[in-house]
Amino acid sequence: MNAIFDLDGTIVDTEAYAREAYVMSGVTPPDDFFGKPWHVWLPDKVGAERAAMIHDAKAQKYIDLLSHAVLHALPAAQAVRDLFNIGWEVGVITSSCQDSLGIALRAVGVADCVTFRASRVAPQLRPTMLNEVAPRGIYFDDLMSTCSLVGDKTDWLAVHASKDRVRYEDVIEQAQSWENF
Ligand SMILES: [Mg+2]
Repeated sequence: MNAIFDLDGTIVDTEAYAREAYVMSGVTPPDDFFGKPWHVWLPDKVGAERAAMIHDAKAQKYIDLLSHAVLHALPAAQAVRDLFNIGWEVGVITSSCQDSLGIALRAVGVADCVTFRASRVAPQLRPTMLNEVAPRGIYFDDLMSTCSLVGDKTDWLAVHASKDRVRYEDVIEQAQSWENF
């Protein structure tokens, strides 16, 4: 069985660092920026030309911040380990870059459990990527909009893994109900 997890906000709490990296780059992001592709909101704020420059600056600052941060694992990080331990293929997808993905997975102690990694995959591209991985599986994301997209465009079960609402036991229970799927 395949399980794929979104990274940021799903298995690791990186929102404060993403926000700080933008602020250090001269922009205060809107309240709901986290998990959205930068080109959806940044050009409106600073213009298209500056947006690309600011995004590049932010990306480097973000890696620097993550490298020195004490990152907090969210409940779904334990689900990554538990599903790996019962023999599932476990993957992680992020809109962020490969370096920050590696840092985050190591920081929360699940790097050795993840057999599939994909970086710079925006939410709208995730259904296609999931379908390439397998016809079915379980996908976990903290953004309801991405869960809806996956639900609409794939046969994967999309689980809303909000840091406030889902305990990892619930996630495992849902996953196990799919073992004979
Ligand atoms: Mg997320």
